[in-house]
Formats: sequence, C-alpha cells, structure tokens
Amino acid sequence: MMKYIQVKVGDVVISNNSDIVIQSMCNTNTLDIELSVAQCKALFDKGAKIVRLTTQGLKEVEALKEIKNRLSSDGYGFPLVADVHFSYNVAIEAAKVADKVRINPGNFAKEHNIAKEQFAKLIQVCKEYGTALRIGINHGSLGERIIEKYGNGPQGMKEAAMEWICMAKENDFDQIIISLKASNTYVMAQANIMLYEAMKNDGIIFPLHLGITEAGNGIEARIKSAVGLSTILSKGIGETIRVSLTENPIYEIDVAKKIIDFCLLHKDSYSINYNKINHHFRVDASSFEDLAIKSAVIIGPPLLERFIDDFTVDATIDGVEVSCEEVVELKNNIMQAARRKFTKPEYIACPGCGRTLFNLESVFNEVKRRTSHLVGYNIAVMGCIVNGPGEMADADYGYIGEGKNRVSIYRGTEPVYRSVPEDKAIDMLLELIQSDERNKDDHPQS
Ligand code: SF4
Repeated sequence: MMKYIQVKVGDVVISNNSDIVIQSMCNTNTLDIELSVAQCKALFDKGAKIVRLTTQGLKEVEALKEIKNRLSSDGYGFPLVADVHFSYNVAIEAAKVADKVRINPGNFAKEHNIAKEQFAKLIQVCKEYGTALRIGINHGSLGERIIEKYGNGPQGMKEAAMEWICMAKENDFDQIIISLKASNTYVMAQANIMLYEAMKNDGIIFPLHLGITEAGNGIEARIKSAVGLSTILSKGIGETIRVSLTENPIYEIDVAKKIIDFCLLHKDSYSINYNKINHHFRVDASSFEDLAIKSAVIIGPPLLERFIDDFTVDATIDGVEVSCEEVVELKNNIMQAARRKFTKPEYIACPGCGRTLFNLESVFNEVKRRTSHLVGYNIAVMGCIVNGPGEMADADYGYIGEGKNRVSIYRGTEPVYRSVPEDKAIDMLLELIQSDERNKDDHPQS
C-alpha cells in the first residue's frame, strides 16, 4: 500500500490531504530585523503560510531567531524557513531555530561518504528540535558525480533526490520535502513527474514543493510559472508552491493563489481529447493578469506535454473581446513558456534575497529593454555571485552581482569580466554579445 508522508512545518501540515500551501521568500537582508519582520508580516497578511529567509551564516541564524521571536510576540506565529547554502554547520545551527531548513544537496561535500555523515548529523538536530528539511535540488547545481552518471537534466535531478530520500530513510527521518526546480519549464515538469513515479514505485511519497526558479518578472514570469506549475498540479502532484518573481515578493502570493484556483477550476479540461495540430480554446477572465494566468493554466500543460502543437484562442476580459495584438502577445508568451516557439530572448532572473546588493528589478528591466532584439539568446540577471553562476543553468550570458556596485559578466559558465563597475556593466554585457556575434560571422562553422 502506498504511504503518503505528512510533514509538519511549525503548525502547518504539508500533505497530499491538505490544501496546497503557498509560501514565499523575503528579499530583505536578514540582518535587517525591522525590514525582515515587516516583510514577513506583509507576506503572511497577504496569505503566505510559510516564509523563507536567506540564512547564509551564523549571524543570520541569530537574526532569524530574533525575527521569529518578534513575529511570534506580535501574533504572527507562522513557520519560518532558513535558506542555507554551502555550509552544513550553518544548517545545523539554523535547524535549532527555524521550523524548516532548506538545504541544497549540491552544496554538501563532494565525497558521497562525507556528505552522508554531514546529513546524518543535520538530521539528528532536526529530530531533536522537531525541524523539517527541504531537500532543494536545482537544475544547475547538481553535483559532478550525479551529472557524470545521469546527465544534467531531469533524470539527474530525480536520481539526486532519490539518493537523499534514501539517506533520510537510512537515518529513520521522514520529515522531508523535496523540490526539483528549474527555470526551464520542461525540465522542471519532467523532473517532478519522474520523481513522483520513482517514489510511487518505492511505495513512499514525500511531499513536493514546486517552483519555477528565476522566472523573471511581469506577465512573462506569471505565464511561465503558471505553465510549469499547472502541468504538475494538474496531475495531482505537489503539496506546496512558491512562485518566484523578480519583484516585491508580495505579488507572488496572488499569482500562486490564482494558479491553484484556476487549476482546480479547470481540472476536468485536462482529460479531454485534444486536436494535436490546432486546438481552439476560449478563455474568459476579469483582468489582464487573470487572463494571462488562466490561459497559461489551461493551455500550458497540453502544450508543454506535446499533446498539442499549436492553438488558437478567443479571449475576453469582463465580456469584452481582447484585441488581436493582445491575443498574439498572449499566444507568443504561452508558446515560449512551454518552450515550443521562441519569439523573444529567454530571460533568467532570480527573485533576489538578502544576498542581493543592488536594485535587481530595475537592472533586470534595463537589461530586458536593451536586449529585447536578441531573440534566441538566454540572458541571466542574478543577484549574487554565491549562487548566481550555478543557478543560471541554461543561460548564454549572465549579469551577476558581485558585491557593492560591482558586477561579473559571464559567457555560459565562464566569467569573462570580473568586478565591472555597475554603471558600465550592461554596456559590457552587450559588447560581449556583439563581439561574439561578429566572431561568429567572421568564422562561420563549416
Ligand atoms: S541567486 Fe539571487 S535569490 Fe539566489 S541566493 Fe543569490 S541573490 Fe539570492
């Protein structure tokens, strides 16, 4: 018989029997207690049930403790999650304070045996303090051993997750939630579906936390998140979600609610027989954002799963037909989010967090504005040099915050310019792309 694991994160139960839990993450500096407390409150007021904070060192663990105490004495006894990368020692200290600790297994020791020992120690502390763990595997930060064995894609992500599930079982610990995230909707969906099947074959299903990483901002990011998340949710997979936007995180909550609501509302539509060549949809909504998310939730899954190759759509907002131009734009965005047709550059932008030392949202908008002609390229704007390079998995070029007013410019995984002053960084990014294009023209491949 199948066993479904329930995980308790503070007072919130995450399980296949409960409502899908919406969570978000602060983009404040965790050491700024006032700002972090205020943002947590705003997120909880908006409807988040769990909030995560960057916890990169021991000072941040102390700050998290203070934030938790402050929230709880102000009547906000909601669960907080410590987001820990790199240091398992920090994870251990964070597990004594937070309700859940998010670890990135790719950041544990490269030697499997040492990683196993580190994980066992962390689990001991989690058991002692009643803390849950999220094994947060991101496309782009898989360990070398996994990549060599299974490749840097959905299968590698699934296998990495199964290894950590196995280690948790060996330590007799089941309070784990798994996430397999990617900014590529297809990779993310495949990885989660494969993991769900693997857990099913194993007889024990752990809750899944779903998310499209580095989705960017604006309508494109809402559509991309809706396409990826609805493809999984429509199969009844996924217990908690986070929509990550390069915007004020407060906006993430409504988008997440809408994705969940539209998925529930349209769950019957996923089992119809599609006309593969050109399926027709009709979508009625009450605002432009609703139309974008609803259309992506209805049309995205069959498109991403290749049940349809093309579609037409009639759309209304409050009963009024939307213009042809808007329909074309909507369709282009959905086709691109489902990775079926690219009419704009692809952008990867992290949501920013306590590690971001510049105005990510305005820099990202400026990069988008100045690179909008580069169709076919994948351009990343990342908030920090610690995780940015690893997390921009598919990007051709990257603008990565390196420190105060300093930026690194990457070509793929290679840092081409380091420590560029912020006011010159977008120019240098464009110069690098243009110079690579010129080189390509001068030396076309035979
Ligand atoms: S890549 Fe962005 S979201 Fe991730 S840790 Fe760095 S600044 Fe934070």
